[in-house]
Amino acid sequence: MPELPEVETVVRTLEKRIDNRIINKVEVRWPKIIDNVSKQVFEESLVNQQFLSFDRRGKFLIFGLTDYVLVAHLRMEGKFYVYPEHAETDKHSHVIFYLDKGELHFNDVRKFGRMYLYKKGEHFTALDKLGYEPWDERLTAEYLKNYCKGKSLAIKSQLLDQSMFAGIGNIYANEICFDVRINPEHPACYIPLNKWDEIIASTRKILEEAIKAGGTTIRSYTSSLGVTGLFQQELYVQSREKEECLVCHDIIRKKFVNGRGTYYCPSCQKEKALFVAVTGNIGSGKSTASQMMKELGYPVISCDEVNAELLKKNSTKESLAEIFKCDITKINKAFIRKIIYSDENIKREVEECLHALIWNEVVKFYKNHESESAVIVEVPLLFETDWYRRFDCNILVTAEKEAVFKRLADSRGMCRQEAEIIMANQMSDDKKIQLSDVVIKNNSTVSKLSQSVEKAINDIVKFNSKEQL
Ligand SMILES: [Zn+2]
Repeated sequence: MPELPEVETVVRTLEKRIDNRIINKVEVRWPKIIDNVSKQVFEESLVNQQFLSFDRRGKFLIFGLTDYVLVAHLRMEGKFYVYPEHAETDKHSHVIFYLDKGELHFNDVRKFGRMYLYKKGEHFTALDKLGYEPWDERLTAEYLKNYCKGKSLAIKSQLLDQSMFAGIGNIYANEICFDVRINPEHPACYIPLNKWDEIIASTRKILEEAIKAGGTTIRSYTSSLGVTGLFQQELYVQSREKEECLVCHDIIRKKFVNGRGTYYCPSCQKEKALFVAVTGNIGSGKSTASQMMKELGYPVISCDEVNAELLKKNSTKESLAEIFKCDITKINKAFIRKIIYSDENIKREVEECLHALIWNEVVKFYKNHESESAVIVEVPLLFETDWYRRFDCNILVTAEKEAVFKRLADSRGMCRQEAEIIMANQMSDDKKIQLSDVVIKNNSTVSKLSQSVEKAINDIVKFNSKEQL
C-alpha cells in the first residue's frame, strides 16, 4: 500500500508529466470509485478543465483544476499511468482522462481507490478526519501525549491513526518503532514526552529519506508510471523476519498487532517495566501513596532518600566542594543550605549536580527492576524540573487545602500561617493536574487513599500486562 512518500512521489511525477494539460473527455468505467458526486457530474464537470496544481495531504492526492479540485486516494493498489494517445486499456482501467496531449489512466486491481470532486473554494470533506502533516509545527510531543490520553492502543497501531497525524502506514510505523527503540505494543497513552519528541523527529527523518529515495527513482520512469510499494531504502525490520537485526544481530520477529503484520527486534525493542513517577505538593500524601505501592509489591525509590544517601558519600561531597571551592570536611546539610540560599547561581549549580547524581541512581534502580510490570519513583519536584518528560506515566497526589492544613498540623505540628507560606511558594495543583496522567485525590482517610492508589496502579499496569513479546 502506498504511504506518504510514495504518494508524494506520485504527485511530483504527475506534476512533471501532466502540468497544464487540458482534459478533453473523461470516461468512468467503475462508478463506485467516484465518491462524492455521480459518474455523470464527474465526467461532465471535468471537460475543458486544466491541471494547474499538484498537492498532497496525508495519503491523498490533490489536483487543482481551472474550476474544480480533484482529490484522489490510491488505497491498496490504485495507480496512475500517463500514456500517449490511444493507449490500450484493460479490465483494471477504471477512470480514463483523455488529455489535449496523451492520456491519464487510473488503474486499480482491488477497486478500493477513491476520487472526490469539489468546486474551487468548497470544503474538502474527504480530508475532514486527517490529522496534521508530519512536518506541521503544531505536531508536538504535548499534542500527541494529550491525543493519546486514556487510549489503550499499542503505539504501533496508534501511529496508523490518520487523525492523530497523517501519512504513516504499516511499513513506516514498524520502522519508526524500531528507530526510537520502542516496543510496538507499548501502550500509546504511556509514552514519555521525550520519547514523543524522538518519534516526531524519527518520523520526519524516515519519511524525508523515503521521499528522497523516491525522487531518485522518478528519473528512471519512462512512458508510464506506477508506484507499487517502497522505494529502495534501507529497512531495519520491515519484511526481515528471521533475518539478523542490523544493530544487535538478534533475530527479527514478526507478530500481528491489531491484525497488522508487525516486525520488531526482541532485543532492541524489549518491553520493559512502566516507568512511573509519583509526586504531589507538601502534605498531599505522596509519600504515603508511594509506600502503599511498595506494599502492593512494586519496586519504589524515593528521590529524597536517594538525595540523603548521596550527601553521605565522599564522592558527592567532593563534587560539591568543587562547586563551593571549599574543603570537603565543611560539606554538610546545614552548610549547603546556608550557601544555596545566599547565592542563586551556586544554588543552580548544586541542583544540577545533585539532580544528575540522583537521576543516575534512579536509572540504576530501574534497570535492576525492568523486568517487572512497573517501577515507581517518588519525585517531589517532578513538574518544577523537566523530569516529568522522562516518565511513561506521571501520578499526582492532590489534597484540598483544609486536608493539607490538618495533616501538616498533625504530623509536623505546623501552624496554619506557616503552612500557607510554604503552599503559596509551590507550583499550583491546577498546573500540575494538566501535566499529569493520573490524579489521585487524597481528602479523607488513609484507607480511602489506599483504595485509590490500588485502583490507579492496577489501571496503569493493566495496559502493560500483555504477554511479553
Ligand atoms: Zn536489535
